[in-house]
Amino acid sequence: MSRASPLSEIKPEQIVTGIREWVSLETPPNDVPRLQEFAQLASHQARQAGLSVEMIPVNNTQQPLVRIRAQSESNEKAVLVLAHYDTVHPVGTVERNRLRIDGDKMFGPGTYDMKAGAYLALQAMSALYRERQPARPVELLLVPDEESGSRLSRATIETFAREAAFALVAEPARSGGHCVTSRKGTGYVSVTAIGVPSHAGTDHAKGRSAIREIAHQALALEAMTNYREGLTLSVGRIDGGTNRNVVPERASLIADFRVVTQAQADRLLAAVKALTPVVDGVRLEVEANLNRPPFERSQRVQALFERAQRVASATGFELGEVPLTGGGSDGNFTAAFGVPTLDGLGAEGDGAHTLHEHIMVSTLPQRLAFLHGLLRDLAWDAARA
Ligand SMILES: [Zn+2]
Repeated sequence: MSRASPLSEIKPEQIVTGIREWVSLETPPNDVPRLQEFAQLASHQARQAGLSVEMIPVNNTQQPLVRIRAQSESNEKAVLVLAHYDTVHPVGTVERNRLRIDGDKMFGPGTYDMKAGAYLALQAMSALYRERQPARPVELLLVPDEESGSRLSRATIETFAREAAFALVAEPARSGGHCVTSRKGTGYVSVTAIGVPSHAGTDHAKGRSAIREIAHQALALEAMTNYREGLTLSVGRIDGGTNRNVVPERASLIADFRVVTQAQADRLLAAVKALTPVVDGVRLEVEANLNRPPFERSQRVQALFERAQRVASATGFELGEVPLTGGGSDGNFTAAFGVPTLDGLGAEGDGAHTLHEHIMVSTLPQRLAFLHGLLRDLAWDAARA
């Protein structure tokens, strides 16, 4: 670790300017021309750093997943770095003067979640490559649709995850610069009840109420929540019926669930698929799916975390972990393949998905040094892995 680091060539102002440029190109979900424009900018910068670039139109759409690679002569498995460049913010947020620096805070749509993290990852990788070719390849995937659940990118991410030795996710760091070592899996349940309509006055007894059925199912589903086990299920929306004086023929609900382990998910999905109607004469249609598998804190995740802690203390801070966050990320996919994964390695800040979203400018050099150190540790010293 005594080699001169090319990081010292990067000035803090350059990092700020670079992030500002990435944030000013707004990238709301599914805005194809803007996503493409951003992908071009990032690709251009990566090529200038000598890295190889491939634009992959995911799932036959025009939304590009940018794959940036620091080649290695070995055929070791890669260190896979994941970042996304879409944000939740609509176009025009930057123009309404949201991109600004106030004291130590840099505000802007997608600064914290997660243009800054993505930018730092590319800079860390470029610096690594300038030093010398890594002993194992390093690959950065810039994903275009994470905020929509990575539905388009999932298969591509999984293809690269199969060839990865480690996965590092540059999603926002948690308070104090801490990282994420596990995440819940996320999924949904949708239930439709089909009953028998009738006049609510004259033919009440002939009707079979779909709303009454959905009310039973909503209670049954909510009762599956188990805080002690970290399992939650929340019915988020109910629709049904037509008029006050009609026994309703149709009603439906949609629920969100979060699980800690795959076994829990399997049990929950089996229970949901076994739901039967309570009201005589009503039929049920049930659909349920685990969108993102749980990211479990395995022994190999623990070992990777300890390695990252050593790199962090060499960089000048104590790395803590925030386990079991309720939100998912692309790290859920890599972890589910058994690839040791660390998440929350991006910038420090606050306010993800809000208009007060910001990063802490003074922490940027340290975050960059940490990411760079971690890549060095994992990519240069393949034999130790
Ligand atoms: Zn994010």
